[in-house]
Amino acid sequence: MKKILFVSSEVYPLIKTGGLADVCGSLPIALSELSQDIKLILPRYQALKITEEVRFLCTVRVDNRNVNILETRLPGTQVTVFLVDYPSYFNLPGNPYVDELGEPWSNNAERFGLFCKIAVEVAMDRAYLDWKPDIVHCNDWQTGLVPALLSLEHERPKTVFTIHNMAYQGLFPKVAVYDLNIPGPLWHIAGLEFYDMLSFIKGGLVYADYITTVSPSYALEIQTTEFGYGLEGLLAARKGTLGGIINGIDVEQWDPEIDPYIPQTYTAATLSNKQLNKADLQQHFALPVNEKIPLFSLIGRLVEQKGIDLLVECLPEMMTMNLQFVLLGNGDKAFEMQLQVLADLYPDKIAIKIGYSEAIAHVIEAGADIFLMPSKFEPCGLNQMYSQRYGTIPIVRKTGGLADTVTDTLPETLELGTASGVVFNEASAGALLEAIKRTLILYSIPSAWKKMQVNAMSKDFSWQRSAAEYLALYNNL
Ligand code: ADP
Repeated sequence: MKKILFVSSEVYPLIKTGGLADVCGSLPIALSELSQDIKLILPRYQALKITEEVRFLCTVRVDNRNVNILETRLPGTQVTVFLVDYPSYFNLPGNPYVDELGEPWSNNAERFGLFCKIAVEVAMDRAYLDWKPDIVHCNDWQTGLVPALLSLEHERPKTVFTIHNMAYQGLFPKVAVYDLNIPGPLWHIAGLEFYDMLSFIKGGLVYADYITTVSPSYALEIQTTEFGYGLEGLLAARKGTLGGIINGIDVEQWDPEIDPYIPQTYTAATLSNKQLNKADLQQHFALPVNEKIPLFSLIGRLVEQKGIDLLVECLPEMMTMNLQFVLLGNGDKAFEMQLQVLADLYPDKIAIKIGYSEAIAHVIEAGADIFLMPSKFEPCGLNQMYSQRYGTIPIVRKTGGLADTVTDTLPETLELGTASGVVFNEASAGALLEAIKRTLILYSIPSAWKKMQVNAMSKDFSWQRSAAEYLALYNNL
């Protein structure tokens, strides 16, 4: 059994701004189900949705500040969560990164610097909690100073640093080095310095014993200039201690057999029931109800990362084909407007909902035939996994987690029983259009289509599978 301290700036359901929270709320539970002794550490934000008892544990003094450590549990579980309580940094309205007006906290370096230092005190068992972890698992830039500071300690735990998105790096003006009392040995260009700035993420990338990303393909991509944001050289140098582990999904929340949001539940054995969900979805989006017309869909943030520009370019030509398209999402106002214009032009074929709705997301996954995910980059991605569980065939670009979780449909993969979607290479509207045409041909062959659906629905995307991979990694360290 390993003792693991899991360090993150957000953990679902206590606090969430994005996918990081989902991972950090699910993986520790899956590891504890594998009989590991795992405890989380998180800042005590004002917005935390605490449901279990909170207990004061101790006060730790770092940098002349008295910081309380409290203890609670992940809601509805036995998993311990240490809360770093420093009210003037964390007990404020707003989210972990921005204030009520949406402006980044001006003292983010100090806030997460202090959080990291307390995590180090806990990791070294200097907070008198009588528990010393074997592994400290850190996530994203907010925790990057932990592996760096631990690297200076004797008899320290092993460190793992997971990159959920390289686009965020925690870069601060050099003055933060003095404000945070960064030890001299860490401040150089092969350390925490990045073009005269203090880089939190480099703390993880340089000093962690092992680096992971949320898919094997993304682990390779970030070693290239296109995806490395200037850190590709460092990452390439660490390729021997850098790997990818695909995130799991919540297979209970996303299960067409028991999904309470959808009009008709179904399984791979009762796939014909999916038609009822399709009719409901067409009705819901005021499209002609017709089971024969292939129904395309997209859910997600309407931003360039997701390839929405490619979709907007394709839609006029798609309108010459016999198909329908529904979309749920929000994001860039320009994309929202372009999509709305197209929906107004083709009311019988395109229907869009600008907004965020968990319920409608389930209805779309259950009712659509095809799910589009033409992302420019995708560290892991979730919707392509949800889609496969619902027998909704994903069309994805071959990048990051999309490349790792969707198997292109070719004669060989159909034969092997692995074909589960349609994959295209180039990030261009032409390539997306080709993939759409190829999908329409497959859709017109019911026996092939059904095989793809059944293959997709039988894949294992559970956290148990991911957690087993993380545990193997911890054991190897
Ligand atoms: P990212 O984290 O880059 O936005 P992911 O695919 O990893 O992309 O995760 C996005 C999650 O948010 C998915 O669960 C997706 O269904 C959900 N989501 C995004 N936009 C919406 C929306 N408008 N309505 C409902 N769910 C949404």
